[in-house]
Amino acid sequence: MRSCTRSGCRETAHISLTFQYNTSVVWINHIEEERDLHVYELCDKHWQRFAPPNGWTLDDRRRAEVLPFVHRLAG
Ligand SMILES: [Zn+2]
Repeated sequence: MRSCTRSGCRETAHISLTFQYNTSVVWINHIEEERDLHVYELCDKHWQRFAPPNGWTLDDRRRAEVLPFVHRLAG
């Protein structure tokens, strides 16, 4: 069990975000066994609130799963 990276949050993390600064891409992935200091791990609640920084692209590396933010981008 891994907890959410956000301070003060004790929910279980389900998603990891890796910021690729050289290409301005955020990788979305499952939680890895090894914890990387540069990876943010978010619970469902914080993941649903997550939005990439201006000019950044989200790259979902989990493949076939449905993304909760798709609805927001469509609007
Ligand atoms: Zn959280």
